[in-house]
Parts: sequence; C-alpha cells; structure tokens
Amino acid sequence: MSIVLVVNSGSSSLKYQLVDVAAGEPLAGGLIERIGHADGRASHTVGHGDDAQTFREEVGVPDHDAAFARMLEAFEAHGPSLAEHAPVAVGHRVVQGGARFFEPTVITELVKINIDELSVLAPLHNPANLAGIVAAEHAFPGVPHVAVFDTAFHQTMPPAAYTYAIDRELAEKHRIRRYGFHGTSHRFVSRAAAEFLERPVEELRVIVLHLGNGASACAVSGGRSVETSMGMTPLEGLVMGTRSGDIDPAILLHLERRAGLDADGVDDLLNKRSGILGLGGHGDMRDLEAAAEAGDPDAELALEVYTHRIRAYVGAYAAQLGRVDAIVFTAGVGENSARVRELSLEGLEGFGVELDAERNRMRGSGARRISTDASRTEVLVVPTNEELEIARQALEVVER
Ligand code: ADP
Repeated sequence: MSIVLVVNSGSSSLKYQLVDVAAGEPLAGGLIERIGHADGRASHTVGHGDDAQTFREEVGVPDHDAAFARMLEAFEAHGPSLAEHAPVAVGHRVVQGGARFFEPTVITELVKINIDELSVLAPLHNPANLAGIVAAEHAFPGVPHVAVFDTAFHQTMPPAAYTYAIDRELAEKHRIRRYGFHGTSHRFVSRAAAEFLERPVEELRVIVLHLGNGASACAVSGGRSVETSMGMTPLEGLVMGTRSGDIDPAILLHLERRAGLDADGVDDLLNKRSGILGLGGHGDMRDLEAAAEAGDPDAELALEVYTHRIRAYVGAYAAQLGRVDAIVFTAGVGENSARVRELSLEGLEGFGVELDAERNRMRGSGARRISTDASRTEVLVVPTNEELEIARQALEVVER
C-alpha cells in the first residue's frame, strides 16, 4: 500500500490531497478556507484530470480540528472511502525547518517542540503548520505523521552561499542566515528534469526557476541545492506577485526615517504591496500580462523588472555552477507564461541558451523542451508537484 495523505495547513486554510504514490496520482483532494470565520468554504475533488468531480459547500469551521472533521465527512460523503484507501502516513508541509531539519522527519513530541520553537523565524507559517499537525494527529491517531520541510533541500548549501556578511556573533545568536524555501519543488523538478533528459541527476547542473505567486531560483548540482534566491525568509531574491525580492537594505532605514513607516509598515509594504502588484497594479501574472499587452506602461515596466531579475540570477548561478546543462521553468508563471520565459532568457544566445520560439509558445501539460536542438543548455518546462513529492518523502521515511 502506498497511499499518503498530504496536508498543507495555513493559519486559516487546510489543503489536503490523498495521493497514490505508486501511481503518482491523487485519489482526491480538497481545500477548506476561512477557518475561524463564520463563512467558511470547503471544496472536495474526487479523482483527477478530466474525470475529476468537485463538491463545494459553505460551512462554518471554527478551528483546525473542525477542519479535519469536515475533511473526514467529505471523504465519507463523496469518497473515496478512507477505510478502503487508508493512508499509511500523513505528510505535513512545514515551512521553516531551520538548520535542524535536513530531511523528512517522523513527528514526535520533540519534533513538535522544535517546529514551535522555529516559529521565531517563520511567525506566519510554523504556528499554522503545527496547528494542522496537532489536529491531524487527533483525526489520524494510528498513523505515522511526517514533517517535510520547505527548507530541507537547501541544507546542502555551502557556508559561502548561506552566510550573510554581517556581524557573526549577532547572526549566530539570532540564527540569521539563508535557509531558502520551495525546497520540495526544487527537489522534485530537478529530478523530473533529469528523468526527462534521461540522464542521472548526479551528473547534472541545473538552474530551476520556480515562478508562482512566490518565486525563487535554485542552482542544483548533482541533485543537491548549492544556492537559492530566497533567504532567511521568503522575501529575498526574485520579484514576486506581491513581494519585492532583493532591495538595498538601506531603503528600509530610509522608509523608517523619511516615510514614517514602522517595522509592521515596512513588512506590509515589502511582503504584500510590492512585486508586480506594487509596480504594475496586478499581483496576478495573467492580469499583468493582459495590461502590458494593452499598452499600460506600468505593467510593461513591471514585466521588464520581473524578467530582468530572473536573467540576473540565471547569470549568477551559471557562474556558480560553472556549466549549465538545463534551465527549468516551473510553477504557475513558469509553466504557463511563454512571454515571461522568452523575456527572461532574451539575449543569452552568446552563453549557449537558445529558446525555440515555436516550442516556447506551444502549450502542453507534461515536461517539455523549449530550447532549439542546437542550444548548448537545454531549456525545459517541468510541472511541479509538491504534493506528490511530500507523499513520496513521507512514504520513504516510514518504509525505512
Ligand atoms: P502559488 O505560489 O500560490 O502556488 P502558482 O504556482 O499557482 O502559485 O502560480 C500562480 C501564478 O501563476 C499567478 O501569478 C498566475 O497569474 C500565474 N499563472 C497561471 N496561469 C498563467 C498563465 N496562463 N499565464 C501567465 N501566468 C499564469
């Protein structure tokens, strides 16, 4: 049996998927939103692809325990039967594993204490992840629960890549260093790219561009992360939907001194009102592209800033890797936006990166090549599947 329940628990949401790992497919999945509010929403999808059937309901869900009860009811009412498809493990997405967790870990009381303690570094995410773990343990008492950390894949980065050039003592005391995020996706996608290229991952040097609402680049050498663009928090690096990515840190001081913003104001500005939203008025790439297409100069500039930053990271990571076998686009924007892919790699022909305009424009659902046959570096689109990766890792741990 290779069925794993994957849980991604936010402060007011619960996302779940029942995954058949052997088949590599979801049996069912769902989303419960607005936990803690009177007007909660639940959706439950049975099957996948064209045959999927979705059931929606409005329900009040006071807390995470109630959300799991709701989820069990949905399985009961719409299937598949959890008695017949009993999960052998529950895999939990946990955002911040700090320097402590470098692999998927069976959840014990001590592990929970550590996840809680790491909330200092991820105040928005870890408490919500932990609430989900505790509620899931109530709902599935006899099953091993496994934490899969967003940061774990990047624990192989060398000190030169993860150390910030600030006072060492202060940095150590407050655990200020680069942790990186989206690790589950970068791991899955770099391996899927190797599979597509029919080459062992150990031989490959790859740059993965995970471009979703959040976005990060990762240099993967021999299957290991050696550098990534998100830092101590998911704010650093690429331009994102609503996050600024890299800026001169002195801008924060300037904003505090001259614009009257306090720490919360800066936090809100850089995390929620910046990125393509702050620049072009749209946090969603589809809307931004449509506005740019219609000639809106702010949207055009936003698209240019977004892709200029990606190109800068591709260049930097090429230099760190020494050789690039493949550049891989993934996540909502990376998988779907031909325009972003084209602008990001524009002018790199001299470095052996040649996009095939026709292949880039063609839509498709699986992994595909979008570079020319002559391109020295392969350019691929590889759909990410974080749920499947979490399920695989959880299963691997319980089968050890
Ligand atoms: P998350 O980081 O929340 O998982 P996704 O990976 O789903 O996000 O990516 C969401 C982003 O993908 C949004 O900005 C959305 O506009 C973008 N996106 C989805 N489909 C397309 C498309 N066809 N063209 C351009 N952008 C797209």
